[in-house]
Amino acid sequence: MTTSTYKGRLAPTPTGEFHLGHARTFYTAWRRARDAGGSLALRIEDLDAQRCRPEFVEGMLADFAWMGIDWDGEPVVQSRRRGIYEAAWRRLKEQDLIYPCTRSRKELRDCVRAPHEEEEMREPLYPAAWRPEPGAAAAYAEPAGVTWRFRTSEGEVVRFSDVRKGEVAFTAGVDFGDFAVWRRDDVPAYELAVVADDLEMGITEVVRGEDLLLSTARQILLYRALGGDPPGWCHEPLVRDENGKRLAKRYDALSLRSFRERGTAFFQCYDTDS
Ligand code: GLU
Repeated sequence: MTTSTYKGRLAPTPTGEFHLGHARTFYTAWRRARDAGGSLALRIEDLDAQRCRPEFVEGMLADFAWMGIDWDGEPVVQSRRRGIYEAAWRRLKEQDLIYPCTRSRKELRDCVRAPHEEEEMREPLYPAAWRPEPGAAAAYAEPAGVTWRFRTSEGEVVRFSDVRKGEVAFTAGVDFGDFAVWRRDDVPAYELAVVADDLEMGITEVVRGEDLLLSTARQILLYRALGGDPPGWCHEPLVRDENGKRLAKRYDALSLRSFRERGTAFFQCYDTDS
């Protein structure tokens, strides 16, 4: 029974088999919602039609059952919610906070070397000189055909408090640049879809992997632009293999399926205190 205003979510992207890192994040999200006496939604992040597959959704449901994770209400499926993302796109466009970008990924890669060493987290910064003049968005009635980017303000420091990491700060133009909100193939970009959904669903705390810390800074800018209050944040440490490499969805030996099929109980392979 829900006894508080806490609302969390599980937000898996079904593009592969889930591993211990996902289990850690999902378990924490579930635990925090249940401990708070709140509710927990399941949102299937399947916007990437090329990479998301029904068998990964099936596998994920089996993983949740194995972990004893439940959720409240019907699952929310991103591929059925385009209207919500388009409305957010329009709101950003009306404020001239986004612009159409016709540069290719290759052009961007060729132009800038990734500025930081921790490439896991960093991305090449979009060159400010490539931005079109303000007002360029007005010519577009629909998002299709180009990439849409959010115009960041160089030097703006985005701060947030995180349950695990404490106070976190990232600087626009240094740690991240103008980021995509809509993809050239006419799919809402991750940053926009997640914020539009979390706002619409009334999410009060986001639990996710530490690999998304920079995304959180970008998303806070989107919350402000869309007139919403950001939720609380809890970024879980990544799980690494014995060589220090973070687990990837294709890392079969540590997939949750392989534990399930070997008959391992969830609590045996996952120590929540570590
Ligand atoms: N769907 C994202 C992922 O699997 C997580 C999104 C989020 O928690 O905001 O990495």
